[in-house]
This record gives sequence, structure tokens and C-alpha cells, in this order.
Amino acid sequence: MKLYDSVIRSTRELLSLQKPRIWNYDERGAWPDAGVSELVLQRDAAYELGGGGLPAVNYTCVTTDDSLIGENQVVLYGLDLREIKKDAPYARIALIRTAQLGEDEEAAYKAIRDMEFVKYHVFPRGYMFRISSEDFREQVRVSKTALKRGISFRSVGFDFIRQYLKNPNVLQVKVIFVTAAGVPYKELQGNAKKTADITRTLTHILDGMPADCGSCSLKSVCDEVEGMRELHFGRKKQ
Ligand code: SF4
Repeated sequence: MKLYDSVIRSTRELLSLQKPRIWNYDERGAWPDAGVSELVLQRDAAYELGGGGLPAVNYTCVTTDDSLIGENQVVLYGLDLREIKKDAPYARIALIRTAQLGEDEEAAYKAIRDMEFVKYHVFPRGYMFRISSEDFREQVRVSKTALKRGISFRSVGFDFIRQYLKNPNVLQVKVIFVTAAGVPYKELQGNAKKTADITRTLTHILDGMPADCGSCSLKSVCDEVEGMRELHFGRKKQ
């Protein structure tokens, strides 16, 4: 599974000028998960990540390449939750290494979707996020109570990792949070769009779309993404 590798490389490059804080995963440090969606009312919120029209980027990339992911870790570029005092820019990026997902493309595709959908099943207490799949935004309202109780990106990230690792196909997870100023959020947003384009192209291929690149509206995706054409033409020969 190499389809998202160029996005992972681009992400690393875009963040390479910043110095991160890094925490190795320890399940005992995970923030309590409510198990269901919780409402944080505006009057109970300290601030919003991505609020007030600020950047709010979210995407997930899956790979089988160990060298692109490394350890289970939370990585933070910028201020931590208790250091932030007002609405701030925000990105959350999940990089996931899986086992080879096998020859069955449909099963591999389903596994990828399952990993993407984890974000709809993580509910850190006092950390309410709203996801817009249309413009790839994830905006977060952080409660004053959670801040008083010591919530941090480390503990929230560990909650995400805990949920991802429940999937038997997932071997390693890196959860990256970004709140720093001076980060090219626009380019990160471009990466979010690219991951969505890749997943959309996969959907079309698996739906049995004819392999005719000359008249295909997804050509720009396949021109850029290593392995996509091989996937479609390999499938056609089956
Ligand atoms: S391989 Fe060609 S036909 Fe298939 S999705 Fe890509 S551009 Fe379209």
C-alpha cells in the first residue's frame, strides 16, 4: 500500500522546519474517553482550535512502509492545550502503518475506510470536535473543566492511538497535532484534499469504472499517485 506515501512524505517536509515535542505511546496516559459524543457548550469552552475561520485541517494516511511511521507516538508542533489561551490554528494528522492488506482489493479498501472512520469513534472528555468531510476541516471546542483536569495533546493523542490499535490490521500509529504559527496550513489542507481524492479514486476503481485514462476525470490523481494506475489496470486483467 503505497498510495498515500507521497502525502506522508510531503507532510514530513512541510513540518520539517519546526521542532516538535514527542511522546511515546503509553495506554495508561490516555485521556478518559466518554464513549459517546459529548456536547461542550460555548459558555463552557476555553477556546476553539480552528475557530473563528482559522485553519482546521484533518487527514489520515495509511502505508505499509515501516520507515515512514516508526514508533507509536504523539507529535506536537506548537503550543499544548494548557498553553493556548484563545482560538488557534489546528491540524490533526494520523499516519498509520498496516500489515500488507492482501490481494483482495475490496478487503484492503474496507480496511482503509475502517481506519478513517476511527475518528468518528473517539470522544475525549471535554474535547468536542466537529468534522466536515466536504472541506476536510476538524474544529475542536476545548472545555475549561478538561483544562483544569489536565487535558493535553499527549493524553488526547493516546486516546486516538488506543482506538486505532483496536483494529487488528493496524501495526503502528503516529498522531500529529499542529498549533504553531508559521506552518503552511494551506499546503496541509492540500494534502487533506489529496488523501480524499485518493480514497475517492479507489472507490471508483472498485466500483468497476472502465480503465480508459483518456476520458477519465480522475487522471490528475493517477498522474500524481504512485501505484494507482497499476491498481486499476491490474484489476482490469482479473
Ligand atoms: S488508471 Fe486511468 S482510468 Fe483508472 S482511475 Fe486512473 S486515470 Fe482513471
